[in-house]
Amino acid sequence: MSSRYRIPFNRPHVSGKELTYLQQVMAGGHASGDGPFTKRCQALLEEMLPGTRALLTTSCTHALELAALLLDAGPGQEVILPAYTFVSTANPFVLRGALPVFVDIRADTLNIDERLVPDHISDRTTTLAVMHYGGIACEMDPLTTLAARHGLQIVEDNAHGLFGRYRGRALGTCGHLAALSFHETKNITCGEGGALLINDPELVARAEVLREKGTDRSRFFRGEISRYTWIDVGSSYLPSELLAAYLCAQLEARDCIQARRRQIWTRYYSALEPWATAAGVGLPCVPADRDQPFHLFYLMMPTPEARARLKAHLAGADIFSVSHYVPLHSSPVGRRLGGRPGQCPVAEDISERVLRLPFYADLTADDQDYVLASIMSWRP
Ligand SMILES: *Cc1c(COP(=O)(O)O)cnc(C)c1O
Repeated sequence: MSSRYRIPFNRPHVSGKELTYLQQVMAGGHASGDGPFTKRCQALLEEMLPGTRALLTTSCTHALELAALLLDAGPGQEVILPAYTFVSTANPFVLRGALPVFVDIRADTLNIDERLVPDHISDRTTTLAVMHYGGIACEMDPLTTLAARHGLQIVEDNAHGLFGRYRGRALGTCGHLAALSFHETKNITCGEGGALLINDPELVARAEVLREKGTDRSRFFRGEISRYTWIDVGSSYLPSELLAAYLCAQLEARDCIQARRRQIWTRYYSALEPWATAAGVGLPCVPADRDQPFHLFYLMMPTPEARARLKAHLAGADIFSVSHYVPLHSSPVGRRLGGRPGQCPVAEDISERVLRLPFYADLTADDQDYVLASIMSWRP
């Protein structure tokens, strides 16, 4: 996301070792997928997320498509998901012919409202797809209990939540399957990329096949079989070693990146708190039993008009602030699938009031001061 603003909304971070690692790939004679850097990234993710198997993919969207394939999603099935999320939580299931059932969100964390889920479960429901907004966990204990009672598979769209925790458990290890994003707007990036996290050991072997065009090439590469062949459906979800090399540099720099993001987030929060209270503006809510990954920072403006005016005020100071999701049930596709206005009032309300502030690891203290001063010079 390049920007003509003095302070852009996002600027992808470069940790320093990316180019060295890219040169190693170019000199090493293995540029397609599943080479040494892919394995290094997967091993790092598995170390960070105990109990999971990680497979790099070309995007989070593709990891979710793999998840939908693995769970045999199809016509006649329903998938429960929050109304306030990115299209990629829903699309992979819709592509398979399953029906998305949109549930409203909680006004505090902006995550799926677990209290509303039971009313949306039918005998066609197979999957509960959750998304941890800003990497602040959903109410996973009640959701897991509900899913177990009704025999539902849980898929975590964990695009925001690498490094997040719920009651000590790493996000991405709470569901049967989870997806990570390494898009340039995320904390760790290789431009475009993702990973499927598999927490059910019985799904690992098939996931490798589906990711490798429906063949058993992964076993062939490990020397377990003498030739590979077509054994299942599948597609090409394996990223090149060039992307894995870039990603590896970022994953290795994660402590540095996260320390910087924590600093920026904490500074936004403490500097804005008195102003926000006086101006009737809400700040992100992080319940005490959750660790957040410092993925985004937003203001919950009192009205849509106040949001438009603050956004324009900041644009006048050459600062790019942005809104977020259009609730999926009220989107053109959502309406075609049966969504109607009024169905998810909290999502509809807050989607008109969220304003996300510039937030990236390389936002300097001076630039953040400038953003803070510009916000606080605005009068409601
Ligand atoms: C970024 C994002 C995705 C998509 O990630 P890609 O890697 O671009 O496919 C999916 N879900 C959520 C919630 C996201 O924020």
